[in-house]
Amino acid sequence: MTTHRTRMLIIGSGPAGLTAAIYGARAGLAPIVVQGLQPGGQLTITTDVENYPGFREVIQGPWLVQEMQAQAEHVGTRMCWDTITAVDLAGPVFRAVGDGGDVYESETLVIATGAQAKWLGVTGEQEFSGRGVSACATCDGFFYRGKKVVVIGGGNTAVEEALYLTNHSDDVTLIHRRDALRAEKILQERLFANPKIKLLWNKAVERFEGDAAIGGAGLTGVALVDTVTGAKSVEPAQGAFVAIGHAPATELFRGKLAMDENGYLLVEPGTPKTAIPGVFACGDVMDHVYRQAVTAAGTGCMAALDAERYLAARKTSG
Ligand code: FAD
Ligand code: NAP
Repeated sequence: MTTHRTRMLIIGSGPAGLTAAIYGARAGLAPIVVQGLQPGGQLTITTDVENYPGFREVIQGPWLVQEMQAQAEHVGTRMCWDTITAVDLAGPVFRAVGDGGDVYESETLVIATGAQAKWLGVTGEQEFSGRGVSACATCDGFFYRGKKVVVIGGGNTAVEEALYLTNHSDDVTLIHRRDALRAEKILQERLFANPKIKLLWNKAVERFEGDAAIGGAGLTGVALVDTVTGAKSVEPAQGAFVAIGHAPATELFRGKLAMDENGYLLVEPGTPKTAIPGVFACGDVMDHVYRQAVTAAGTGCMAALDAERYLAARKTSG
């Protein structure tokens, strides 16, 4: 068990945390980044990124965060392979405890814990998880090569997952509970133009069907109910990809920091400042509107600049 001390502790290693680290390190704060269970964050489960500024050609999500981490380390960040399980925000020194018992003490805390995939919570979802049901087409799509697959959801993620799956399957069905997608227009156009993709509108998933036993048939279909008529049907499928959004990773801060009704951390509008001086939140954990790599990076920058100003003001007043 080790106690690590720093002037800037960053929880989370996605674009928000790594950008905060780059700025914090360049300000001489010798930041520590605790990486969590998903080092690199959500971009590690995607492929093509074509909207992050600075790259004319399409780049890969995992490569982009690897570069961010390399840059953060190059300027003086220490990365820690650990997951925070408890925090003490009483201050003026903030404390966090890792799952192996290591303690992190810091004068400022940057929360960049991001968000995680949501599940439908219907019968069979857990049972077939990893045996037909997945939340990541780029991770698991390969296993369904040449098979019939469905994607559930109507946002950017669902449309991208469906498009990606056409690399592996000629029979992809997007199932959405309404009659309109919320995905960006350019993605919708690509989806509608793809002959390998069929759309099922106004359908909610009731359960996943098949034989989940080892050596069994696996997933065979998805039982649906029409959200307008109530009619029941079964869509045959050997793979189902749930792509219905994400939930912020904020359990650690429940009762300690203010959150909205969906669990996103509340900050002073236009800033990454929480109600506790010295504690900042950036990226998807405080942003349910934009949720992009570039906005996460932008608020990560803001968090580090504000942390630096907070420390400078304390030094002047103290
Ligand atoms: P995340 O990337 O969610 O990172 C959170 C970090 O916090 C992780 O490292 C995790 O391990 C860590 N963490 C969580 N809890 C703890 C804990 N208790 N202790 C320690 N660490 C913890 N955006 C784009 O701009 N362009 C795209 O093309 C694009 N494609 C996407 C494709 C997919 C499939 C998905 C899911 C998202 C995509 N996005 C895209 C959105 C983008 O990935 C996110 O907006 C961005 O990653 C958010 O960054 P973040 O740093 O706030 O959080
Ligand atoms: P999202 O935009 O919140 O969309 C979630 C979708 O799932 C919605 O269509 C929603 O339906 C549906 N849904 C939610 N709960 C459901 C349930 N219980 N049953 C059935 N359907 C359900 O989430 P996202 O697509 O994951 O995108 C998250 C953020 O990441 C967005 O800001 C997005 O722009 C960003 N992102 C960007 C890119 C990119 O820029 N290329 C790629 C991926 C993600 P309703 O529409 O009916 O609410």
